[in-house]
Amino acid sequence: MNKEMNIFTKICSKCHLEKDIKMFCRYKNTYQSWCKVCQKEYRILWHEENAYYNHEWYVNNKDSVSQRQLKNYKKIKKLNPEQHLFNSVRSSARS
Ligand SMILES: [Zn+2]
Repeated sequence: MNKEMNIFTKICSKCHLEKDIKMFCRYKNTYQSWCKVCQKEYRILWHEENAYYNHEWYVNNKDSVSQRQLKNYKKIKKLNPEQHLFNSVRSSARS
């Protein structure tokens, strides 16, 4: 069963590592050019970015938010979600 699956390796076009073909998802008659690890990483990243940009806070503040603030927000949110709330209340009170 699936003997040929054990022979082949493929070079991932994202991480450029040669990996067992089993590490690549099959797509129709061929294999995807990214390995499963890279695909997974990309999916997580994509999901995070989307969750972030769709976030209510961003939607409500996008007109006045700079790129630096966006970065800070992301960092704070990861470290401490409550701290983020505190900061946004404080900065809106200041202005
Ligand atoms: Zn890869």
